[in-house]
Amino acid sequence: MLLAPGSTPRIRITRQRQIILDELCSVTSHPTADDLYQMVRRKLPRISLGTVYRNLETMAELGMIQKLEVGGTQKRFDGNAATHYHVRCQRCGRVDDLDLGLIAGVEKEAAAKTRFAILRHRLEFTGLCPECQKKL
Ligand SMILES: [Zn+2]
Ligand SMILES: [Zn+2]
Repeated sequence: MLLAPGSTPRIRITRQRQIILDELCSVTSHPTADDLYQMVRRKLPRISLGTVYRNLETMAELGMIQKLEVGGTQKRFDGNAATHYHVRCQRCGRVDDLDLGLIAGVEKEAAAKTRFAILRHRLEFTGLCPECQKKL
């Protein structure tokens, strides 16, 4: 569906954002902005990488999605905004969700030790994924 001429930019942005969000939520691979750009382009052929990137950054700021920042690698995005843990392959960069219960009380303890108002915590495990283990 194409937008009618005269649509306001605000509506166009919202529709783009919805498509980007839908694409992100359709996968569990924690794609990079580049990956999402390739996915979204199938539905919005004229969208730019910059637009995809800006929408992702804004949605992450709004808490609609999560931005996974891993040292030395491209940022990845997660359609699941709830706190959950990740495991990352240090060879190929694959990031999977980890079905592990959240560590209870850790945020309270961190708040008590730092006097910060703790909003959330992150925990990432690193290792070698099954495919990379086979290549050893
Ligand atoms: Zn791997
Ligand atoms: Zn995740």
